[in-house]
Amino acid sequence: MDTDVLIVGAGPTGLMLANQLARRGVRALIIDRHAGPSRETRALGVQARTLEIYAKLGIADRARALGTPSTGANIWAEGRWMARASLGEVGRSMTPYPYILILGQDDNERIMGDRLRDVDVSVEWNTELVGLEQDGDGAAATLARPDGTSRRLTAAWVAGCDGAHSAVRELSGIPFAGAPYEHVFFVADTEATGTMVPDQVNVYLWRQGFHLFFPMRGANHWRIVGILPPALRGRDDVTFDAVMPSVRAEAGAGLSFQACTWYSTYRIHHRSAARFRDRRCFLLGDAAHIHSPVGAQGMNTGLQDAYNLAWKLALVVEGRAHPALLDSYEDERVPVARRLLNTTDRAFRLIVSDSWLAGVFRTKVLARIAAFALSGERVQRFAFRAVSQIGIRYRSSALSVSPEGWPDDAPRAGDRFPWLSLAFESDTVEDLFEKLDDTRMTLLAIGQSAIAESAFDRGDLLRMLAIPANGANERELARARIPRPSFYLLRPDGHVGLCGPRADPSVIARYLSERLRLTEPARPSHR
Ligand SMILES: Cc1cc2nc3c(=O)[nH]c(=O)nc-3n(C[C@H](O)[C@H](O)[C@H](O)COP(=O)(O)OP(=O)(O)OC[C@H]3O[C@@H](n4cnc5c(N)ncnc54)[C@H](O)[C@@H]3O)c2cc1C
Repeated sequence: MDTDVLIVGAGPTGLMLANQLARRGVRALIIDRHAGPSRETRALGVQARTLEIYAKLGIADRARALGTPSTGANIWAEGRWMARASLGEVGRSMTPYPYILILGQDDNERIMGDRLRDVDVSVEWNTELVGLEQDGDGAAATLARPDGTSRRLTAAWVAGCDGAHSAVRELSGIPFAGAPYEHVFFVADTEATGTMVPDQVNVYLWRQGFHLFFPMRGANHWRIVGILPPALRGRDDVTFDAVMPSVRAEAGAGLSFQACTWYSTYRIHHRSAARFRDRRCFLLGDAAHIHSPVGAQGMNTGLQDAYNLAWKLALVVEGRAHPALLDSYEDERVPVARRLLNTTDRAFRLIVSDSWLAGVFRTKVLARIAAFALSGERVQRFAFRAVSQIGIRYRSSALSVSPEGWPDDAPRAGDRFPWLSLAFESDTVEDLFEKLDDTRMTLLAIGQSAIAESAFDRGDLLRMLAIPANGANERELARARIPRPSFYLLRPDGHVGLCGPRADPSVIARYLSERLRLTEPARPSHR
């Protein structure tokens, strides 16, 4: 084989996958048909779960320094302020990043690209996948260059991170069912002043549609996203100057534009690949699912596809896990994508519908419902968990095993283990997420003594962390509804694989060999 993993596409998804594989000792070949990194901002909302992953990759601080944290969204209806959806206050106990970080896709790609160069992996630009064949052992790819030359390359695995028009998907014959929306979006990076609440997302609902204002780095810099007004639809040459009057007409005289540095229109589709895998090939990111940008989930979902696949693929490539482990990628990520497609589709149709009734609903009812609902802490917590993506869980996955009778409100197998501040060996309170090593599994022994790593044949893959259920930790454990005593076996991606009251080395060893499919059975070595 020429390479263990061929990553097709160096957008955010491909860069994340290449980084995560490199950290786990797997060198992948990453190619892109473009001549260099994209300069377009495109996606700009980085969610808390992505920032948690960035922290493990060592790039969260840089992202934070370049971006603008937005702690809430203000909802306006027909020019009147209606409600503020707070992210900051309610998210503070759930994640180190209780906000949406407004940071353009180009900056995200640059930071991930720099990190990749730090580990001596470079993208092979000007290289397009044009042919793909596979058998049981691997895939043969044909790669073409703009000068007309081409070469064949063999890879054990292929990751299709090649966007909405994915060649990997098409060459694998995987259907991409769905449809385009009839509306045309516009996006503009502007310098503007108006009623917008600074440093926060501002959502303007009108009878005719909506506009979103996202705070960008720099004074009075706003990204505006909206749909073209009915009078301008069906034209290919709509400029920002043509759109501006309708935005102003709705926003009132208070809104004025000083500059527009980037403007584009685009049609969006909602589509999902019928499968995320065909034997040796995987689909991730926009290659697997595309949907409306409502909720700023698109780029984040692709990044998390990569995070889900990387640790599994690394174990398989190293020969430490059976390839059957890779089935769980599709089992876990397809439902996430389908749910996302359904919710963004419903929300989007409500927001963009042209009907008179929908216009009234949008401005008179929706805004009031939102104002009422978002004033309650339960709804705020639910909304934050959904938007930030920290609520994504894989409870029905074959990798998730919770015991019978496990309390309903306790974290269980499949969940992202909650973010906690705990005292471990001393009285000093530490951030649990900082202590986790996401290249290994972690066994949290809560209110019971830890088992020695040497108790397992594959102990190097497993780290023990004892959490005393003492006075220092009691409140925090109770807040997260964590039973005491208990144990939680965390997968490298921070999701719970196995949990229960008392950690039994033989039960854990069985889980590692039967569920994670580690190739050498991880039985307790002291027996
Ligand atoms: C105008 C616009 C605005 C958007 N706004 C938002 C937003 O506000 N929020 C949000 O979450 N999302 C938004 N999106 C969507 C977001 O940009 C995507 O979800 C994100 O780019 C997906 O990343 P990806 O890496 O999966 O795919 P892409 O970013 O599409 O990257 C795919 C890469 O694969 C390469 N490639 C393609 N075919 C081949 C081939 N055959 N061989 C080699 N390389 C290939 C391409 O050159 C490209 O670099 C927006 C998209 C657009 C177009």
